This record gives sequence, structure tokens and C-alpha cells, in this order.
Amino acid sequence: MKLRAAIFAVGVLSLAIYTGLGFRASQVDEPLYPSPSLSKIVRLSEYDSRLRGTRADTDVYEFGEPDGGATILVLGGTHCDEPASYIAAYLLLENIEMERGRMLIVPRTNRSAMSHKTIGEAHPPTFDIPLPNGVRPFRMGSRYTNPLDQWPDPEVFVHSPSGQELSGADSRNLNRSYPGAANGNFTGQIAFAITELVKQEHVDLVIDLHEASPEYPVINAIVAHERAMDCASMAVLDLQLEGLEFALEPSPANFRGLSHRELGDHTLTHATLMESANVSQGRLRGKTNADLVVSGLDSMYVRAAKINMTRVPYDEKGIPLKVRVGRHIAGFHKLISAFSQLNPDRAAAFTGIPTYDELQQHDLGIYLDPHDHP
Ligand SMILES: [Zn+2]
Repeated sequence: MKLRAAIFAVGVLSLAIYTGLGFRASQVDEPLYPSPSLSKIVRLSEYDSRLRGTRADTDVYEFGEPDGGATILVLGGTHCDEPASYIAAYLLLENIEMERGRMLIVPRTNRSAMSHKTIGEAHPPTFDIPLPNGVRPFRMGSRYTNPLDQWPDPEVFVHSPSGQELSGADSRNLNRSYPGAANGNFTGQIAFAITELVKQEHVDLVIDLHEASPEYPVINAIVAHERAMDCASMAVLDLQLEGLEFALEPSPANFRGLSHRELGDHTLTHATLMESANVSQGRLRGKTNADLVVSGLDSMYVRAAKINMTRVPYDEKGIPLKVRVGRHIAGFHKLISAFSQLNPDRAAAFTGIPTYDELQQHDLGIYLDPHDHP
């Protein structure tokens, strides 16, 4: 009897240690290796001190100097179950060399959302990207702010200041919470700090990176606020000329809380958002694991595409992470080039970032190899 109790106690203790270590790992940021062009790192709490010391306070990486060129802001990891969103931001910050203008990159925009996973989604805690020698693990998080930071959800989330009503869980969705308010909830404070950053740094162009299910209507698209429409339409034309199918979606005026709508309305920036197609967040997917995140290949979606249930072409090749990141990187190139052509006095220029074709040819690993960043 005593032996059984002892075995049971050891089992419980091992489980507690195992889950405890897993929880602790989920609270530590994975290392990033900024390029030598880094001029400084500030915390988001510089723009709203209420975030200081919380799980939402996050690094803002700044490249280049104020030299009269454009200031551009890239937001990755608004939704931390959309890996191309933050892997594209990591790739940019680890490789960019600014020649004119300033690049601000927030790779973990909702850092609280990276510290947990959405219950019921079966997402893996990490996935590996192959490097020339070895692999580099990356974390996967949630669409929503961690409930440890904001709880409980209301029955109905009432967006401020519009009064728009959404489901309660969306009160923890950063991309329904812009522009945020000085007295808002925790997620609204993150939105408020980003809005303040855009104002105080006089950001000319915002590029908010996302992914969505292949059956979602706004997909393989650049969404643009009215002020950014010239720039985004030029970028979409350029992308199509290079054989990359992108749709141009005007930011709906009556759908509130989204970055492109509220940053466009509440600041002077050109607000854009990009979506790529990610089966690992799709409702029709089958087995969910780290392979699915990277390969983007799911047999249920191959069947769904055959009966026209997807909004993007989808076949046995899947839509791998390198294609999704490549599309974000291609859009980044074209948006900045279009902005610079339309505003030659405030042009931005950079090197070090691969083209879409280079990324497909070489894969992601050579651009994310920590050994190249001593
Ligand atoms: Zn998203």
C-alpha cells in the first residue's frame, strides 16, 4: 500500500515538474538576433506606462536614424497562432539594413498572447524551422490575450468608442481593440500604446502582418485604409505583375477596432494589413501538429478545395510557411517601394531582405540562422 502511494506521489510530482517547466518556458521570450543596422530597442511601455512590468510590455526594435526618410512600422504577432506574421517580422529584424528612413519592428505585438495557447485548438507549443546546420525552434501562441492578464470575458464585448458589439472573447483580441483608450481593459491598453507609438514616432506607413483560414473571405490580400489606398493599389499591381496573386481590400468603414481602420482614422499614418492562408488555423483542418504549421499541407483542405470551399487555390503542395512568409516579405517590398515612389521626399530604402523568389529558392533557414549573428 505504501509502495503504491509512493509511486503515485512520484507520478504527481513528475507531472507537476513537467507542466511547471512547460509553463515557465512559455513565459520567456524566444531569443531574436537583430541585424547590425539596429539603432535601439525601446519597450512598448514607453508609450503607455501602465504596461510596464506586465506580460504585454514588448520590445520595439528600431533600425536606421531619423534622416528625413519615411518611418515605417511592422507589426508581427498581433495574433500569435498566425506564425507567418511573426516569422516574417523576425526575418526582417534579423536581416534588414536601412539606407534611408527608419524601420520600427514589433515582432510580438500582443506578447501576452504568445504566453499561452487557445484551449481546444490543439496547436503545438513549438515548431522547428530547418537551418543549414540544425533546426531553430519557434513558439506558437494564441489569437487572444492570456486570460491570466484579462479575465473574465464579458458576455458581449462593447468596442470603445464606437459601441460596436462583438463576442465576449473578442475583448481579448488586439485587432478588435484599436484605437484603445487610456482607461480601457488590458488588451485595449496594448492597442492604445501602439496608437500612441504611431502618433509620437510620426509613423508614415503601418504594415500589420496576419494569417487567416483558407476559407476566410479576406485572404491573400492587402487591406488598406482610404489614405493608404494609392500606395496599396500600386503594390498589388506590382505583386500581380510578378505573378503573386493578391487582392486589394478597402478597410470597411463600419467594422471597428481593426488596426487599418482605427490607426488610419485616429492618426495620420497610411495603415495597411496583409493576410496569408494558414491551414493550421482553419476550421476544416484534420490532424494539427508542428508539421502542419510548417508544411501547410492538410488532406482535408485538398478535398475542400476540390468542392470550391476555399478562397485560395489549394492542392497537394499545401501552402508552406516559406510561401506565406515569402508573400508577406514580397508585400513589404512593394508597399515600401510604392510609398517611396508616391512620396519621393520621404522615401525609404533598405537592403538585406530577400525577394519572394530568393526565399523560395533558399528556404527560410539561411535568413534565420543565429550563427550568422555572433
Ligand atoms: Zn490575425
